[in-house]
Amino acid sequence: VLGGGELGPEQEGLVIAHYGTQVAVESAPGQSQRCHMRANIDGLVTGDRVVWCEGDPTGVVVAQLERNSVLCRPDPYGKLKAVAANIDQILVVIAPYPEPHANLVNRYLVASEVVGIEPVIVVNKTDLLDADPDLREKMDALMSIYPELGYRILYTCINEEGMEGLHAALRERTSVFVGQSGVGKSSLVNALLPEAALRVGELSENTNKGTHTTTTAQLFHLDCGGSLIDSPGIREFGLWHMQREEVEQGFREFRPHLGRCKFRDCCHEHEPGCAILAAVEAGEITESRLASYRHIVASLES
Ligand code: GDP
Ligand code: ZN
Repeated sequence: VLGGGELGPEQEGLVIAHYGTQVAVESAPGQSQRCHMRANIDGLVTGDRVVWCEGDPTGVVVAQLERNSVLCRPDPYGKLKAVAANIDQILVVIAPYPEPHANLVNRYLVASEVVGIEPVIVVNKTDLLDADPDLREKMDALMSIYPELGYRILYTCINEEGMEGLHAALRERTSVFVGQSGVGKSSLVNALLPEAALRVGELSENTNKGTHTTTTAQLFHLDCGGSLIDSPGIREFGLWHMQREEVEQGFREFRPHLGRCKFRDCCHEHEPGCAILAAVEAGEITESRLASYRHIVASLES
């Protein structure tokens, strides 16, 4: 047991929550301590791997380890700010209701490509598809282009059977849920979190004297072995501003053709010698993805 002010040995840890100027760091699932940061450490976010020392009453983070990925969002001044780190996959949740639109699905996929994190499309509320052949037909039509683009599609439903595929997809990875309001993100998160995870969350709140509550991202360990990082801000991922060049790159099947247009600043509208239009002509890019590209770019400019 450490005495007042004494520090334990350096060890590796994981930031699982952020409270004002402090972070909660754990070295093993379920064992976390509030830590403050050495002065040279700035901008730690949930999911960061760190070197830290246990202490009394708080530990101290002495170093930040390299990130595999970082999810950023613009602050009110338009400056990018990290919100979570080391995310392996972005689960883009859609549902038959609220009715999904290709432009929106593509926007989430593009935003995932921009941050370099693999998206997985999660079609939730499959019970509604089972109950209505028209809904299923619409959903199948909407999803038909994604497997050949290399995107995985998972079908889920808030019942035991409907959660099996999701459990498998989450294993050994750190994931976030994103998507439009009403598609079922909260329901999925609640169904996934083991009660123990919720209890541990509460404990780490109570054992510390401070009454800080966290509105930032929190990392949860799942029974199936993976982790989930969740916050209201993260769930809104993908809806903020992007650059036109980012959108172009984010349509992954555009990439081999980019830079081959006759005009360097080609907008792929009706310019002569446009490589994107030629690829649509050749059937390498679908009309619907080109339409979404235009729609997203137009929405950024308005
Ligand atoms: P969020 O806004 O994305 O977090 O969505 P919620 O989790 O709040 O869910 C929105 C609504 O969809 C709620 O009324 C849920 O009960 C409902 N819902 C969630 N999952 C399912 C499902 O698998 N099937 C059906 N039929 N409804 C669901
Ligand atoms: Zn072009």
